[in-house]
Amino acid sequence: MDIKLNCCDEKPVLALPSGEKLCRSHFIEYFESKVFKTIRQFELLDKEENIGIALSGGKDSLTVLNLLNKLSKENPKIKITAIAIDEGIAGYRDKTVETAKKFCDENKIQLRIFSYKEEFGLTLDEMLKILHVKPCTICGIFRRYLLNKKSRELKLTKLATGHNLDDECQSILMNQMRNDLRASARLGPKVGLMQNDKFVQRIKPLYLCTEKEATTYAFLNRLLDTFTECPNTSQSFRAQVRDMLNEMENKFPGTKYSIMNSFLQILPYLKEKFKDGAIKICAKCNEPSSNDVCNACIYAEKLKNKIILQK
Ligand code: SF4
Ligand code: ZN
Repeated sequence: MDIKLNCCDEKPVLALPSGEKLCRSHFIEYFESKVFKTIRQFELLDKEENIGIALSGGKDSLTVLNLLNKLSKENPKIKITAIAIDEGIAGYRDKTVETAKKFCDENKIQLRIFSYKEEFGLTLDEMLKILHVKPCTICGIFRRYLLNKKSRELKLTKLATGHNLDDECQSILMNQMRNDLRASARLGPKVGLMQNDKFVQRIKPLYLCTEKEATTYAFLNRLLDTFTECPNTSQSFRAQVRDMLNEMENKFPGTKYSIMNSFLQILPYLKEKFKDGAIKICAKCNEPSSNDVCNACIYAEKLKNKIILQK
């Protein structure tokens, strides 16, 4: 019996781990139906939503925005707003913010931009000259803080992010390597361990899509012209795990799907195990926190003290 490897006579643009090769139009159809199936399978959206999309201006978040924009045009009960965080990373974020603005202008999507400089008084580049910490640690803490706070203030019902299957597999392995199962319990297509008024539920529509698929979709649809990477990426633990995973995927196609599928089987047990543990309110800023003072306030205080010492 012949195994059909090409979807049709058109030139293929991408091969799936199964070996099947898809042409441009069959790939777009495959990708979009996978994302909409993910939304249905994991019940990521309700019938009525005022949804925010965390827009970095990179391929993943533009892909999510493009697809949720399509959905909102078909369904007037789904309203969308893009939220961009400008951390202040010279030569990188300025470019991606421009891409985000251009996309939102062309597609008539409301875009709100919030910056570290305005909210915390310093850009990330300035913070890193004062505090000698890993860039992604402090960047991630302030970004999650701002995204949640601003989404709540804008009365958004959910916040969609561009996290894809590769990102999730990296997080699963990183948490294993750090022996941090509680962090893994917060993963999944719907983020978090419990519902709380102070938290805006985060969802990941690209949960089952690989990085390669999201990149291919973004470029085929001309969502962006060039690929820009944050200059701090190479310093991160995540980048090392990413390279290791890509090497395994090249040697053993399907590795990423296997990690994801096995994780989805244990995720309900992890959520059950770690469901206790009340969410506290930060004594300084009133934002939700797992400790008496949230990490954003701890780093803001460290920055303030260093600045005073330097004067
Ligand atoms: Fe921030 Fe690190 Fe992402 Fe750069 S790679 S934007 S420093 S989290
Ligand atoms: Zn705080």
